Amino acid sequence: MTQPALPSYTSGTSDVPLIGQTIGDNLARTVAEHGAREALVDVPSGRRWTYAELLADVDALAKGLMAKGVAAGDRIGIWAPNCPEWTILQYATARMGAILVNVNPAYRTHELTYVVQQSGMRMLVSAVTHKTSDYRAMVEEARPETPDLTEVVYIGETSWDELVAAGAAVTDEQLAERGASLTPDDPINIQYTSGTTGFPKGATLSHHNILNNGYFVGEMIRYTEADRICIPVPFYHCFGMVMGNLAAISHGACMVIPAPSFEPAATLRAVVEERCTSLYGVPTMFIAELGLADFADYDLSSLRTGIMAGSTCPVEVMKRVVAEMNMAEVAISYGMTETSPVSTMTRTDDDLARRTETVGRSMPHIESKVVDPLTGVPVPRGETGELCTRGYSVMLGYWDQPDKTAEAIDAARWMHTGDLATMDEAGYVNIVGRIKDLVIRGGENVYPREVEEFLYTHPAIADVQVIGVPDETYGEELMAWVVLQDGADGLTADEVREFASGRLAHYKIPRYVHVTDAFPMTVTGKVRKVEMREQAAQILGRG
Ligand code: AMP
Repeated sequence: MTQPALPSYTSGTSDVPLIGQTIGDNLARTVAEHGAREALVDVPSGRRWTYAELLADVDALAKGLMAKGVAAGDRIGIWAPNCPEWTILQYATARMGAILVNVNPAYRTHELTYVVQQSGMRMLVSAVTHKTSDYRAMVEEARPETPDLTEVVYIGETSWDELVAAGAAVTDEQLAERGASLTPDDPINIQYTSGTTGFPKGATLSHHNILNNGYFVGEMIRYTEADRICIPVPFYHCFGMVMGNLAAISHGACMVIPAPSFEPAATLRAVVEERCTSLYGVPTMFIAELGLADFADYDLSSLRTGIMAGSTCPVEVMKRVVAEMNMAEVAISYGMTETSPVSTMTRTDDDLARRTETVGRSMPHIESKVVDPLTGVPVPRGETGELCTRGYSVMLGYWDQPDKTAEAIDAARWMHTGDLATMDEAGYVNIVGRIKDLVIRGGENVYPREVEEFLYTHPAIADVQVIGVPDETYGEELMAWVVLQDGADGLTADEVREFASGRLAHYKIPRYVHVTDAFPMTVTGKVRKVEMREQAAQILGRG
């Protein structure tokens, strides 16, 4: 009798148990062990906190929130680029049980109004301005439509100082009592997913979800209290606040904020000056850093590890990060906001091929499977299907949207990611693309990822994204958007065809090539292919 094919299913094992604590108790534990160690450094302002100092500021703010009558479960928004107050509020809300609502710093009044209303937010902590964003003006504009938002506190202004000062009326015992009333399964954070289409949905996450995910991300790259993590990715997104802050604090490591929002030179300067051991980024951030004219002048010898994640991590870029940025133990993570976020990750002792060409395998205590999207049956190893994940990391649900929750999480508690993937014999996962980005040309499925990886090997190409555009004959045709290497003076579709012919199946060779300076992006570094497809219609003169 022949054996049935091995199904695409794995579960991550570990002899390290899940943490059964609240986020607030976990901070207290780290402070007890590492109180004198440096916890947080804000490079732009030069401010620094030890763990003991961080806890003092966190608790002063937590008491201020309690003095203002904020109850456990109330929603408090944060709308700011990266700054120490973001982290302090993250932990203050966790200590006293309010649900922190992350508001994307790129939002404008329309989206702000939506998330304030949708989450039932009662207090908003906001930056005043950043670059071209006048947050105060936008908050004031939104307020008539958000009457339940009774309090707005501006970072760096007297309203912040007043909030902290109000906390003097609350005793240590009252705060401790509040903390003791919280459980790890309480919702503690709402993250509105970037949602490239439609209104954002509020992924609601518990202490247990995100504390454990942050902790195990840190375990995968062997964090200890000696690590110093440079975090140029936004706190409003799980990459910053979970894989950055929670991973750091659960290990007693130090968080380094290089700049309020991403700047390649400021990031590398922070690594050098603060002797960072770990650096995070979405692929385009690493590409920008490697592309700095004075890249060779930065002494990156302190680096050991780091994480690239958020979208497809090109193999060539990963190799350069290992070889030229001294990040021998860099990892790739894959996940999504709804799963806290990380579901699979490469391990530091995986071979270079697996560490650069796959998104690793199931995280400890997490199950992964790849299924036929139509039948839901796991496909044999090596075949493409939809990736699903299950475990402690799956969100509680979308805030106040049970119907949307039921579309994403099935009756057996599997989160359906909407990502196409393959799983190899050893359980390593390869992300092929979003189901929605799959291009079907003349009946052939083309995975943009595969074409992008190939085009990265072209000497004139620094960065590339491939999309499908409507075509009368083939249904869809491929279009490549390319960012050229410094010094390259152009690239035509003919040149690409010549380069690819004989090496790539004819139907995978882009018909159109568009040279651009940058791709439309979300602040979390996700290329907005929806917008590219809209723009492509205009570029190709099809209005
Ligand atoms: P978000 O919820 O905003 O973090 O977006 C999650 C989505 O980002 C996933 O569903 C994937 O499509 C994509 N993504 C995240 N990490 C990776 C990765 N390492 N490789 C490819 N795609 C990724």
